[in-house]
Amino acid sequence: MSIGPGSQASLREANTARVVETVRKFGHITQVELTAATGLSPATISNTVKRLVAEGVFRTRSTVHSGRRAQLVSLARQTGLLAGVQVGRRVLRIAISDTSLDIQRSKSLPLPLTHRADTTLDRAAILITELVEDLGANVDELSAVGVSMAAPIDPESGMIPVAGILPGWEDIEIATVLSKRLNRPTSVDNDANAAAVAEARRGALRGVANGIYVCATYTTGAGIIINGHVYHGVRGTAGEIGHVQVEPSGLICNCGGRGCLNTLVGANVLVESLRLSHGYTSVSDVIREANAGDIGCRQVVGDAGTQIGRVLADQVMVLSPSKIVVGGELAATGELLLAPMRDAIEGRPLFAGTVSVEAAALAGQSEIMGALTLAYDEQERVNPMGVSPDRADGASPKGVGE
Ligand SMILES: [Zn+2]
Repeated sequence: MSIGPGSQASLREANTARVVETVRKFGHITQVELTAATGLSPATISNTVKRLVAEGVFRTRSTVHSGRRAQLVSLARQTGLLAGVQVGRRVLRIAISDTSLDIQRSKSLPLPLTHRADTTLDRAAILITELVEDLGANVDELSAVGVSMAAPIDPESGMIPVAGILPGWEDIEIATVLSKRLNRPTSVDNDANAAAVAEARRGALRGVANGIYVCATYTTGAGIIINGHVYHGVRGTAGEIGHVQVEPSGLICNCGGRGCLNTLVGANVLVESLRLSHGYTSVSDVIREANAGDIGCRQVVGDAGTQIGRVLADQVMVLSPSKIVVGGELAATGELLLAPMRDAIEGRPLFAGTVSVEAAALAGQSEIMGALTLAYDEQERVNPMGVSPDRADGASPKGVGE
């Protein structure tokens, strides 16, 4: 049967409609998946996608799918919004993104040292509402909310399982409280776990089956990816490397233990150790001065790298990851922190050369991107319509909660 020019045009129109419909349905989809889902030929898909990108209907970005490079196709204008909330010891960060996790609005607020769950979650709900309205949308258009907490989270209860780590937040079902404030689906996890998943999806742990994300900030924590899944352990305390004992006769830690890593390194301790020589400084001062070449500041950052590296070396002995990526405020000192950390790890002959230590790719954003990733996964859980080829790294949302 021969096809005339007119019917060819209508065929093209029908194919275009089918491709747009499929991308809308799935949200993000690779070209290979698009071929399978529409039944059209790879050449037709390739040409149609190219044309629709040129027309501003689609956008594409590179991804890794089943270990191969692939083009991820999505609608240029994402419908639906996600909210990420990062609750740190001293800071509250909120970010609103579209469903492709491009941040549209964000805001940070300092928190008092003794912030409590009810007031902080109230502020989070108000800020989310303000930022969403600033985008010309309303909270009903939020598909989901994700919260990354500077404390371990029991995956069963959604609560902090250890007293003392974040006073004022005990016995609080964090996701439930915020979900009631906003009437949107909400999930919660530890910040380093959430950041590990974010780095696995779109950062330095992409394609890494066994890796560790380390957050070096006021305290030190880690998110552990094993066989592509975040490992939470029984009560969500896996990866709490800040509470590994390094000084048996050291100071008492807020967890009740003695001489934990957190009592020797961490932003506050660094600031304190410079008080005599440098007077009162803040963490950002220490980081800036270290980067500018101040010997004292470089010394304390380097020592922190060594201490954290020694603890990590023991974790590497147990878990045998191929990659460790480091984020958190102190990571802004780059190799000043990373080089001694690497030395402490590579100094162990058993696994020398098997594990690399690098800076996190989502520089300074890993934890808030982690919160948005939690929101994304919550949206997928509640409304499992879309496929997320982002999951090709194996760190599937199902892994979060296992
Ligand atoms: Zn401790």
